Amino acid sequence: MSTCATPIDVSALRRAGGSALGADARQAATKAAATAAAQATAPQRWSVAAIEALFELPFMDLLHQAQQVHRQHFDPNAVQLSTLLSIKTGGCAEDCGYCPQSAHFDTGVEASKLLPLDEVLQAASAAKAQGASRFCMGAAWRSPKMRDLQRVTEMVQGVRALGLETCMTLGMLEAEQAQQLKDAGLDYYNHNLDSAPDFYGQIISTRTYQDRLDTLEHVRSAGIKVCSGGIVGMGETRAQRAGLLAQLANLEPYPESVPINNLVPMPGTPLADAEPIDPFEFVRTIAAARITMPRALVRLSAGREQMDDALQALCFAAGANSIFYGDRLLTTANPQAARDRALFARLGLRAQGAAPEAPQPAPDQVAG
Ligand code: SF4
Repeated sequence: MSTCATPIDVSALRRAGGSALGADARQAATKAAATAAAQATAPQRWSVAAIEALFELPFMDLLHQAQQVHRQHFDPNAVQLSTLLSIKTGGCAEDCGYCPQSAHFDTGVEASKLLPLDEVLQAASAAKAQGASRFCMGAAWRSPKMRDLQRVTEMVQGVRALGLETCMTLGMLEAEQAQQLKDAGLDYYNHNLDSAPDFYGQIISTRTYQDRLDTLEHVRSAGIKVCSGGIVGMGETRAQRAGLLAQLANLEPYPESVPINNLVPMPGTPLADAEPIDPFEFVRTIAAARITMPRALVRLSAGREQMDDALQALCFAAGANSIFYGDRLLTTANPQAARDRALFARLGLRAQGAAPEAPQPAPDQVAG
């Protein structure tokens, strides 16, 4: 689907007066142009049913459509690299059923304090040296306290000074907190919707769906770019996967970054025994995200460690164009950087920002 501008009937305008248009024709032309412009910029609303219909397409048709949309907006062979650092791990007051950092579950993850600034900057420098363009910092908080915010704003400033884009995920934000982060120069804020509204309550009870939407609104209003996605494989139905994408795609505007996570069941969490979803269903989710949010960076996120190279390649073909790059996500393993570089070389992919003709580093040329 695409938003089409209403064509202006030029011949009718010509009939009405050629180049020297009469007043009525001029008015008609102005009105038609205004309507066309409004329709061209009007955000497209996606119904859950329309997204479900995408999921129902034959796999090859869905992939073809997603790849076509992808090529209209992106270089199909470039992938944006983000590196994620946990700046404060564990002991979180929330009860997200997939998360080993929740204090509600016995998962063996120890609560730690906020990392010191110099450690964060060291990790950011290393990420940059390995080719990352964005550095994401995550803290296991319900929401940041004022004294914490002071410290994380210093991190934003320090990481920016290294020439990296900055992203933070710190839990719920009030409007003033979002503004403080914006003033410090934060580029992106991550806050996932996690799942569809009608499934969400089965996974989390300590914050509501509306709380999440409110945080996204505060982030957007402060002028920070939005990173928001979700997790599949938590026991939701296909309609609920479509429901998650409808929520994201209908945000005005939709997020600039959309991480799609495949659940990594963690021992000790309520979802430890969740049934994995069919890998092709995961690829379908990526493709539907690409079609419904054509200009977003669709990030292949948690769960990549468990995917073989062929499945990752299918995800890239379906329109994924961003990955977490580095050896660990917040608490789960991520494919090693060397393996990613080898895969990129085999597929002819390159890091976003790297010149197309530039040779890719061989796996042994860059410290992994
Ligand atoms: S996902 Fe975030 S908010 Fe939820 S328990 Fe984990 S760290 Fe806390």
